[in-house]
Amino acid sequence: MKTSIIAVGTELLFGQTVNTNASYLSENLNLMGFDVMYHFVVGDNPNRLREKLADAFKDTDLVLLTGGLGPTQDDLTKEIVAEYMGADLYRDEKVVEDLKAFFEKRGGHMADNNLKQAYLPVGCTPLYNASGTAPGFALEKNGKIAICFPGPPRELKWLFENGGRQYLEQFMEKKMYYRVIRTIGIGESDLETLLMPLIDGQTDPTIATYAKEGECTLRVASQRDTLEEARSATEDMIARIDDLAGKYIYSYDDEELDEVVVRLLREKHLTITAAESCTGGMFASAITNVAGASDILKASFVTYSIEAKHKLVGVPYEIIDSYGVVSPETAEAMAAGAMSSFGADIGISVTGFAGPDADPGHNAGEAYIGYAYKDRSGYVPVNTSRNIRNWNRNYFKLRMLRTVYQILKGEL
Ligand code: ATP
Ligand code: MG
Repeated sequence: MKTSIIAVGTELLFGQTVNTNASYLSENLNLMGFDVMYHFVVGDNPNRLREKLADAFKDTDLVLLTGGLGPTQDDLTKEIVAEYMGADLYRDEKVVEDLKAFFEKRGGHMADNNLKQAYLPVGCTPLYNASGTAPGFALEKNGKIAICFPGPPRELKWLFENGGRQYLEQFMEKKMYYRVIRTIGIGESDLETLLMPLIDGQTDPTIATYAKEGECTLRVASQRDTLEEARSATEDMIARIDDLAGKYIYSYDDEELDEVVVRLLREKHLTITAAESCTGGMFASAITNVAGASDILKASFVTYSIEAKHKLVGVPYEIIDSYGVVSPETAEAMAAGAMSSFGADIGISVTGFAGPDADPGHNAGEAYIGYAYKDRSGYVPVNTSRNIRNWNRNYFKLRMLRTVYQILKGEL
């Protein structure tokens, strides 16, 4: 079904607010098999909104709108859409009750203008909003459908997932099944080359690659007459992807690398300690981001100076003098020291040049990840060839996570 999105709000035109609602809706609509053909942005102005509605309905049958559903004077989306579709407004008593309950719970008084939100177009399908005060709604007339969502992104997402999606499913011609695979350690173009035998000439399932700060994501999607067919086509394709690129894959379910690492460590009842130089604690931060980290993270050291590497995790000065502070030997000694200092099962470390500068004979983006696991130890060299400090630091952190992942998978 041909689809347009209209984002309403003058703040979008001023550049104060980024139109994330349009990208959120587009992504989800595309995944459901709707053909998104236009994005419009229009200010809080009745005439221009009328014009854009007419433009959108000229070429497309489904129009999703966000913003301008609230209680204030400049919120006019509902009124204009109802007028355009030739519907009067009625007072929806469920919304009135919801509003009263909302304000009562917060112990506040409900200003009269809030009741404006309780009016909905006659004949619409209300989308009751438990994440805020303004309800959304879907309105269909003569094969044309308008669906209105509130502007705050959190409310839009909640309402799309709790009503909007279910309403749209009736218009899906085919059933869609997809999975998102996450990889690390390979660039987007290399991954595409590797998978070219599968991507080339393939119409269903489709394989889409997206690069994201050192990681690469694959979306494998199939649209078939039944969900079962779509699922089995997708799973078959994933098995073929696995044959070609399995060693780069760390999740088949769109999980973050830190989540996967924490989950595996917990499953195996292993503990970990880190010594970080140029990442300044980013690894520890990633791990502690995940609920349940306290079961597995013993401690973490930010050993930025040579002195700290010696005093906190016992790196012998001789190693640093002989091999340099950014070297495989120092990285390994840091990891071994981190592990033994707290009797953890795994020690992990990083020492490197985040940039933009590096010592003579080295370059920004050069780093060594050290690891120690029971009686094994080693290092992973990293060289990003970039001198963008934050990019490098984030990438080093990802490589630390990946190193732990590889240890847990028995690959190191
Ligand atoms: P409210 O009940 O909060 O008034 P509303 O439906 O009237 O909801 P708006 O007033 O248009 O929505 O926008 C509320 C807030 O939502 C804005 O301040 C803005 O931060 C955010 N917002 C609106 N539209 C978008 C958009 N297209 N993309 C991202 N954020 C948006
Ligand atoms: Mg508003």
